Amino acid sequence: MSDLHDVVIIGSGPAGLTAAIYTARASLDPLVLEGEPSSTGDQPGGQLMLTTEVENYPGFPEGIMGPELMINFRAQAERFGAKMETVKASKVDFSERPFKIWVGDPEAPEPTHLAKTVIVSTGAKALMLGLPNENRLIGHGVSTCATCDGFFFRDQEIVVVGGGDSAMEEASFLTKFASKVTIVHRRDELRASKIMQERAFANPKIEFRWNSQVVEILGDEKVAGVVLEDTRTGERSELAATGLFVAIGHRPNTDLFVDQLAMKDNGYLITQAPSARTSVEGVFACGDVQDDVYRQAITAAGSGCAAAIDAERWLEANEHG
Ligand code: NAP
Repeated sequence: MSDLHDVVIIGSGPAGLTAAIYTARASLDPLVLEGEPSSTGDQPGGQLMLTTEVENYPGFPEGIMGPELMINFRAQAERFGAKMETVKASKVDFSERPFKIWVGDPEAPEPTHLAKTVIVSTGAKALMLGLPNENRLIGHGVSTCATCDGFFFRDQEIVVVGGGDSAMEEASFLTKFASKVTIVHRRDELRASKIMQERAFANPKIEFRWNSQVVEILGDEKVAGVVLEDTRTGERSELAATGLFVAIGHRPNTDLFVDQLAMKDNGYLITQAPSARTSVEGVFACGDVQDDVYRQAITAAGSGCAAAIDAERWLEANEHG
């Protein structure tokens, strides 16, 4: 027989673990399916497990290492009784209540868990270039978040990869700190909106390398530069830089919820702002899985708190009342 929970939280980044703290303190005995490490960059603890120093999370005037922050989140949730399982959900069925969640074999006749409410906090992944050194140098010059890491590159030369709005925005933001920002784009035409393009073209600190791909990241302990390849001629050249910001888009971790929860065209879950309600009553979503705008640890944590309060109120109204 599957066990029945008041709340199952799928995902364990800042959003999921904040939801765990709040639901645990509301005596709802949450079960957190915190995920498993995978070769594609999935991590229990989420994207902050792949960063080094975090200086913009309020409450830590000296900054804190990303992994340490997430260990603290987890310990705080466990202190109030949240139960963690280091597994991934493999299938969900939200078509009737209680909701069904499978771990392991998705074809198993019985679900692993039944839940009165579910909080989805599976996060998103920054798309990466797929280069050998890339994961190893994350937090050591390679970054996917200018807001988070730009400050560390004062008076340094930075490469930004991408030709969309994110790349233009990251590059413009980085010029507050960097001495020079080179945008490397694989075509000779940007995908970004006109206004963002014009802003980047007008910025004297931004240079463009058109028809170029980063094919190698140089540096042992820290990024020292990149090797660029001309997409038309195949000619290679080196470009010195201490920072490499990859801004080629994000992908929400929503494969599990296709045909279960309403999504935008870009795959992000739709929530009914200002609540965390999804298209299924009793299922709530928080953090980057439903946020394609802010994508910050603090906004994720805030939305995790909202999801927990929504779930608690929903249970009171529908189950306990
Ligand atoms: P995007 O629009 O999908 O652009 C991704 C860019 O990365 C494209 O230029 C693409 O090149 C390039 N790219 C993709 N894979 C690559 C690879 N493997 N190697 C090298 N380059 C690669 O993504 P985004 O810029 O993150 O924007 C996502 C959405 O958010 C968009 O709708 C955007 O308008 C919106 N957004 C808006 C703002 C704003 O208005 N302030 C800011 C950020 C994002 P190609 O062009 O050749 O495909």
